[in-house]
Amino acid sequence: MKNKYCFTPFDFAIDILLPNRCPACGTFIPWNKCVCRACYDEFEVNEIDEPPAFTDKMYVPFIYSGKVKSALLSMKLDGNKNSARIAAEKIEKQIAEEGFNLITAVPMEFHHKMQRGFNQAEFLPNFLHQLTGLSTNYKILKHNKIPSAQHQLTAEERRHNAENSFSILNKKNLSGKKILLCDDIITTGATISACAKLLKLMGAEFVACAAVAKTKIHFNQSN
Ligand SMILES: [Zn+2]
Repeated sequence: MKNKYCFTPFDFAIDILLPNRCPACGTFIPWNKCVCRACYDEFEVNEIDEPPAFTDKMYVPFIYSGKVKSALLSMKLDGNKNSARIAAEKIEKQIAEEGFNLITAVPMEFHHKMQRGFNQAEFLPNFLHQLTGLSTNYKILKHNKIPSAQHQLTAEERRHNAENSFSILNKKNLSGKKILLCDDIITTGATISACAKLLKLMGAEFVACAAVAKTKIHFNQSN
């Protein structure tokens, strides 16, 4: 049976030791809630739906600003998965209807993942797997060493960097497959495009992307 927001009895038990918090403001909330009402009222809904280059469709429920930005920072730094729970619940139906063969995530550089203990890009697809039963595979692509901090670069430099940042980890025949590629945040779309390009090189027929939030830009205007 599916639980609302994928909370389980384990989450109920762990709440005694590590009480659930609103990822946007840090206030304590019931074990089976994702965010406090006041913060949720400020979550900005995304209405932009034109996908980044090399992708055919995009599923992103929120805009990366204000309280959503705080919630995603808490996901990245503290591993608070609540914003991914909400996003998964929002897009679950559309994902199930599209009939994907496989869900994957933007890979994280190996030593970063070891340091952090998790790849926050995998939270959303893990919940989508629980909600839809679609299988996940995070060992298709790999993240090479990042040449320099992405946020200091122009869109053009980011795109160039992103192209060199990813490569194929396991050669898989994706011929005719419909793949859902997930990340936590989509900013310029350069990362998603670079990964989607590789999936298409491996034969994928349709690559859609999903994330918890995206910046307010239209990709075709920023490119
Ligand atoms: Zn809050």
